[in-house]
Parts: sequence; C-alpha cells; structure tokens
Amino acid sequence: MPVVPNAGDPNQRRCYGVCLEEHERSHIDDVNRANPGICRGKPRGTQIMPSTSIQLTDSEVRAFEVTVQCLRRRLDEDARDGGCCEAYILDAWNYYQDILEQYRFEQSRNRRRRR
Ligand SMILES: [Zn+2]
Repeated sequence: MPVVPNAGDPNQRRCYGVCLEEHERSHIDDVNRANPGICRGKPRGTQIMPSTSIQLTDSEVRAFEVTVQCLRRRLDEDARDGGCCEAYILDAWNYYQDILEQYRFEQSRNRRRRR
C-alpha cells in the first residue's frame, strides 16, 4: 500500500493528522471492497500491493480526495477554535492538492490508453 509522508511535526499531527489516517482508511476500504476478507488471518502489518498501476492510481485519487476534503473540514473546525492551525492546514492543502492533481492527470492518461 502506498505510504503517505508522515506528519512528523507535532503541530502537523495535531492540526491535520486525522486527514492522513482518513487517507489510509480509504485505501483499506478499497482493498476490502476489491478483495473481501483478504486481511483475515494475516499477521498485523501485512502489506497489500495493488495489482496494476491503474488500480494504484484510482485508489490514490480517491484517497487524496478524502485527504483534501478532510483538510477543508479541519480548516472550518480550526477557524471556530481560534485559527491556530490555519497556516499548517493551508500548507498541507496546497501540498496534497498538487499530488491529487498529478494522480488525476495520470488517471485521465490511463483512461485514454484503455480505449
Ligand atoms: Zn495513498
């Protein structure tokens, strides 16, 4: 499973760590939808790899959409809490929005190739 860069800084973790967890959760949901029960009886931490680069790209587009939506929500929550996280969340938003655009571009290229 692709690894998202960790928010190592405690402020990053506090401000939007939940969005990185939601990203990974989206991959887990994709895996379980495509292969129900695949993780049953496997040791904790077993890595699941996508079968094709198309599968990988599709899963990343979904996961980064989740990340960006989560950051949007965190921005609203933070504004109500005094706005201490705003700069951190906006940095992350720019960063992950860029990655999402790259995966969307790759996805549209894959679609054209498939036809
Ligand atoms: Zn990912």
